[in-house]
Amino acid sequence: MKYTAKGFRKIISLLVALALLVPLTGEVSVMPAAAVTQAEIDDLKDQAADLDSQRAELQQQLKAIQADKSKALEQKSLLEQQIDATQAEINNIQSQIQKYSELITQKESELAQAEEQEQQLYELFCERVRYMEEEGEVSYWSILFSSSDFSDLLDNFMMVEEIIDYDNSVMEELLALQEQIEADKADLETSKSEQEAAKVKQEEAKAALKEQESQVDALIQEISGKEDQLEAAEAQLKAAANAMDAEIKRLEKEMADQIANVPSESGFLWPLPSSWNTLSSLYGSRIHPITGKPNNHTGIDIPASKNTNIYAAKSGVVTTSTYNSSYGNYVVISHSDGTSTLYAHMNKRAVSKGQTVSQGQVIGYVGTTGSSTGNHLHFEVRVNGNRTDPVNYFKDKTLYVTSGGKKVLLEH
Ligand SMILES: [Zn+2]
Repeated sequence: MKYTAKGFRKIISLLVALALLVPLTGEVSVMPAAAVTQAEIDDLKDQAADLDSQRAELQQQLKAIQADKSKALEQKSLLEQQIDATQAEINNIQSQIQKYSELITQKESELAQAEEQEQQLYELFCERVRYMEEEGEVSYWSILFSSSDFSDLLDNFMMVEEIIDYDNSVMEELLALQEQIEADKADLETSKSEQEAAKVKQEEAKAALKEQESQVDALIQEISGKEDQLEAAEAQLKAAANAMDAEIKRLEKEMADQIANVPSESGFLWPLPSSWNTLSSLYGSRIHPITGKPNNHTGIDIPASKNTNIYAAKSGVVTTSTYNSSYGNYVVISHSDGTSTLYAHMNKRAVSKGQTVSQGQVIGYVGTTGSSTGNHLHFEVRVNGNRTDPVNYFKDKTLYVTSGGKKVLLEH
């Protein structure tokens, strides 16, 4: 069996992981409505995916253990077949022993009969001798005196001898018969005891098979126990994953509701004071200013002096207000029309996640945090999560772009 304690330790660790999930889920459900952010929902989604993969692993183990179990069951059925075959052999030997016993009994009665015959013959002989004595027929005296001459005497003696000889030969035949019966009986007893020895051997073989069977039974029981535990753990994981999915849906709806409750304007407001209108980098493919490699610029760069106000381009809900190594201090605002705006490299952020903001509200100040070469605002506009060129939303605004150190009017 390849099933080992290693697999079982894995289950235990999963159960421990499950136990840890309980307080986590609890935390999520008491989270204040205003603090719902996409990042937290994404985090929960990651955890849900982790649960799913743990569950898949558990299902894999369950499959393996079920394979082990069916192998053990197969072994058990083979052992049962062997036990049945051995039992059939024992039964066959037993009937042979029975047959031998019957034959031996038969020989015993034959022997008794022969002994009785011998006894009868002996009694007859004795009777005859006694009669001859009484009648004087075998009296040596009478033979002597009744014989007319020596020849007659010899004849008389020979006659007596013939009678004795005849009786002797019958007696010898009887004795030979008895000996034959005794020999036959002894052969039968030898065969019987051989079969009895064979039976003992088969009984031992059967007992060994029974022992193996009980070991397999114990293994099956052990596997079944582990299988039950795995199934229970799998069910627990499934329940936890379902609870988490429900929580994600609830939070997503809550966030969508919150965003929907802030009507967005039809157009975007320029995110900096109007005079900061010269872009240093456009949206789309460009040579990256730091890596020097071609890449896709995800927004536009608008240089401005440090701590210049940054405005919310539309009313909405702050779904991210944090720092990371590439965007630096950055804010994401989700708008009810399905768009979102991102403001990066801020020196300082002025809003926090979950906060409702109105168009034109100061949400932060220009800086050069994260992956940046100077004070500027990196501005992105997404429509249903897809990045678009921000300048498309400012058709009415006069914009410039610096190209090769020269400032030129941007056609857009
Ligand atoms: Zn940029």
